[in-house]
Amino acid sequence: MNRFTKEIDKILEYIQSNDDKFLVSSHVSPDGDNIGSSLSIYSFLKKLGKDVVYVLDDEYPKNLSFLYDENIKMTSKDIDQKEKYTVIALDAGDYSRICVDDKILENAKGIICIDHHITNGDYGFLKYVDTEESSTCELVYNIIMRYECITDNKIIDENIATYLYTGLITDTGNFQYSNTRESSFIMAAELMSRGAKKNLIVEKLFQNNSVNFYKLLGEALNGLEIIQSQICIIAVAKESMDKYEVEYGDIDAITPYTRDIEGVELGIFVKEKEIGEIKVSFRSKNYVDCSKLASEFSGGGHKRAAGCTIKDLDVELAKKMLIEKAIGYLK
Ligand code: 5GP
Ligand code: MN
Repeated sequence: MNRFTKEIDKILEYIQSNDDKFLVSSHVSPDGDNIGSSLSIYSFLKKLGKDVVYVLDDEYPKNLSFLYDENIKMTSKDIDQKEKYTVIALDAGDYSRICVDDKILENAKGIICIDHHITNGDYGFLKYVDTEESSTCELVYNIIMRYECITDNKIIDENIATYLYTGLITDTGNFQYSNTRESSFIMAAELMSRGAKKNLIVEKLFQNNSVNFYKLLGEALNGLEIIQSQICIIAVAKESMDKYEVEYGDIDAITPYTRDIEGVELGIFVKEKEIGEIKVSFRSKNYVDCSKLASEFSGGGHKRAAGCTIKDLDVELAKKMLIEKAIGYLK
């Protein structure tokens, strides 16, 4: 029995017994887990015959274009902003990360929060927040499986299985990270039996880099710095992305390089999204609490993977500030 069955049942009961207009929302800078969980809960609600829209105002990640469905994804501008939606927020560690127009959120009937971040800001009239689960996709999988069990009605088809598998594989780093548990493998096996397109997902996510990305990666790796033998920091300035014609959304694959070095405990990847806006990713191997470190810069996330945004600083100054704080987390 899942220790959150009560929360799951409350959400299922609410969805089944209310004829609300549901709005499935993504978070800013959506990743595989966010897109996967949003598309699967959207498809689930559609299968239940619910009135539902999926809104994402941020840029849709190019590497996930194989999941893109123009009939599903909308922006806040495409929908009636005066409507009182019941918003379903997925994978959004805090309220401010929900990527929907403020007016829609202010007007909303309420928010149902489904998330696995340790820094979850505790919002929503219904919540299913389990920080031990690998991914929000695993939470959505639990919800749908519970529904299937109660109603004896099969919901997970090839598409939903593919959405859910995408989030599982991205948030567990291909089943490598410490958030990978027995339940993740059981879920993966079940999704494969339902037709998840595993080989397509692997190819699109891990075997599809451009040649220019490799050139940029070479430059980035050449510039890496090691601090006190335990921290590795890599920075990519906007200028480099422009030089190699690589888009900001395509460089996340550099993040793991910061951590995957012998002896390094903490990896920091600094990306200059725009001049004056720096996005930072933290990754740790064994003990540094990245979510705590990120929250010192108003960010958040998980123990072993977190992030933040730094405004109005150039790359060098941001690096200096990050290193100063990060050193305090070393043993
Ligand atoms: P990434 O480094 O891949 O962008 O994010 C790693 C984890 O930290 C993800 O779970 C993501 O949701 C979370 N995260 C990244 N940036 C932020 C941020 O600015 N604020 C919060 N609260 N979480 C973030
Ligand atoms: Mn996630």
